[in-house]
Amino acid sequence: MRLSQSFLPVLKESPAGAEVASHKLMLQAGLIRQTSSGIYAWLPLGNRVLRKIEQIVREEQDRVGQEILMPTIQPADLWKESGRYDAYGPEMLRINDRHGREMLYGPTNEDMVTALFRDDVKSYRELPRMLYHIQWKFRDEVRPRFGVMRGREFLMKDAYSFDLDEAGAKISYYRQLLAYLRTFRRMGIRAVPMQADSGPIGGKLSHEFVVLAPSGESEVFYDGKIEEVDLEREGLSYDDAEALEALFREATGVYARTDETHEERYWDAVPAERQRTGRGIEVGHIFYFGIRYSEAMGLKVSGPDGTMLVPHMGSYGIGVSRLVGAIIEASHDDNGIVWPEAVAPYKVGIVTMRADDADTVAAAERIYAALGEAGVEALYDDRDERGGVKLGGMDLMGLPWQVVIGPRGLKDGVVEVKNRKSGEREQLTIEDAIAKLSA
Ligand code: ATP
Ligand code: MG
Repeated sequence: MRLSQSFLPVLKESPAGAEVASHKLMLQAGLIRQTSSGIYAWLPLGNRVLRKIEQIVREEQDRVGQEILMPTIQPADLWKESGRYDAYGPEMLRINDRHGREMLYGPTNEDMVTALFRDDVKSYRELPRMLYHIQWKFRDEVRPRFGVMRGREFLMKDAYSFDLDEAGAKISYYRQLLAYLRTFRRMGIRAVPMQADSGPIGGKLSHEFVVLAPSGESEVFYDGKIEEVDLEREGLSYDDAEALEALFREATGVYARTDETHEERYWDAVPAERQRTGRGIEVGHIFYFGIRYSEAMGLKVSGPDGTMLVPHMGSYGIGVSRLVGAIIEASHDDNGIVWPEAVAPYKVGIVTMRADDADTVAAAERIYAALGEAGVEALYDDRDERGGVKLGGMDLMGLPWQVVIGPRGLKDGVVEVKNRKSGEREQLTIEDAIAKLSA
């Protein structure tokens, strides 16, 4: 993409009113604009990152489940059936349609997916199943803040598992645990599973996935031993129930909790030199809740001997839009964003130091065309701007690689290739630069 033809409104000054780095940087680099409190429009650069994150989530979920798409607007009746319409409170945006029917903008989908499953599934042979979707949610948060990290409208991946019994439901849970670890790893971040509050029902499984960052909303306490656990288990099959359970024990057996569940008596048992504390951002949550919804909504299937069974369920959320902010929190410096390559809006930024020098422009055009042919996503700053301004903009946007082209280097037959993260610079011929960046 040529910058001269882009909608990429970069701000000269750091915006006022944003409290955390990711929010500031997302506004400044032109990723998002607020349209109402806690509601954002995604501009081209932000939208590309959001779609990349979404696609990684989708690919890893496709290994354990099937994608569906449920609507954002739901009938209140479903929530009355499950018995939580009144309990949900003012976070729910309630709407009346023209016929006076009560509707709502979904904050989550347990009720709807349970009804969908109930209406078509009748036999134990049709279980287990795992369904997921990636859809916008609305929660009228008391205090929307930190940009997309605590918005009111936000994009979530939510999956739902249906199993015949508790033992089966646990395997579904372990599968999602592994899928989550792999998902976050692919995005270039590490999210630690931490024991979560399983609510008033109790006795069930619940873990939050937390990315460590100083601006996180939760205080975290964990045993440094978790850093040595191989969490992603390359090669582990989702069909190997025993190995999945072993992973679960290892990944969740080490002390790791947020302020919500922290208990001094267990914390004290962690050797002092391994006690780590800090702050973290919740990017995902997995929850096994048993028959809470299936029982209330009459979901049952006939078992092998004709008796009726009530399926055990779990739900599994990932904050897709929150991740854009969380990744920036975990990966930025004084000059701007530092995107991990897997989620970067473009892999390469091309900068001409002198837009009025014919050789410089010709070299840039050649590199831009060659990268395009090789399928490498590049953003070409072809504007008639000062070189320094363009370089500052590229650092701010955080693309993993920059190619800087100017008359001085070209005299020696080279361009400069800079790695945004390490700051390392190499002088390469045009052909070598193309080869390096196409690899
Ligand atoms: P939190 O404690 O942060 O409010 P939650 O427990 O309400 O989160 P879940 O209902 O488990 O969250 O939702 C699944 C995921 O959706 C969360 O792990 C988080 O990543 C994301 N999420 C929740 N609320 C928001 C929000 N207001 N803005 C952006 N993402 C959110
Ligand atoms: Mg919440």
